[in-house]
Amino acid sequence: MGLEALVRWQHPQRGLVLPSEFVPMAEEVGLIIPLGWWILTQACQQMQHWQSESVLDSTLQINVNISSRQFAQPNFVDCIRQILEASNLPFSNLKLEITEGLLMDHIADVADKLEAIKALGIQIGIDDFGTGYSSLNYLNAFPVDTLKIDRSFVERMDSEEGFEIVKTIVTLAHNLHMDVVAEGVESSEQVTALSQMHCEYAQGYLFASPSSPEELEKWLSSYY
Ligand code: MN
Repeated sequence: MGLEALVRWQHPQRGLVLPSEFVPMAEEVGLIIPLGWWILTQACQQMQHWQSESVLDSTLQINVNISSRQFAQPNFVDCIRQILEASNLPFSNLKLEITEGLLMDHIADVADKLEAIKALGIQIGIDDFGTGYSSLNYLNAFPVDTLKIDRSFVERMDSEEGFEIVKTIVTLAHNLHMDVVAEGVESSEQVTALSQMHCEYAQGYLFASPSSPEELEKWLSSYY
């Protein structure tokens, strides 16, 4: 159904630096905002390129993670629209991933911004669902298309309680007319359990690991 854009830093001296190291720092110094726009630009351009070369099916979506600070920018919706228009990627091919934390950060115009995003035809997913401090109130208050169940729940699905928690989240999402992605899926047993509870999508190392655009093209050609 889609791909998620992930960022890595190939540092000349330190080698490959993971986002868990540099994103908190980028947040602290404010660089997360230009970095976030750069990532969105790259992701949309790459997706559009793959569509124009028929590497990917035109229905596939690119999921891009959005930070609270980026979302809080007064011109957030305009920036999204400008980047998409410049890339020529159809709006329906983009899904923004936000966290529960972002929704609870009391950004004054969160509802207005999400409605404006939806009006453009862009989808919205909640990332790492179940791990943040949040209220179930917001799930109904905001136009959310997808819940992504955090990997920590998927990992514990082999216990009876763990299974029931994931099943409950899947049911909750479906009752609210959202679809569900299980994150961090690494085994076929997990896929079996997820299909038993009618969870429609899964993401994780069982299917593909984070890769460069070049590696992904190779993976796709062997997959189809
Ligand atoms: Mn994500």
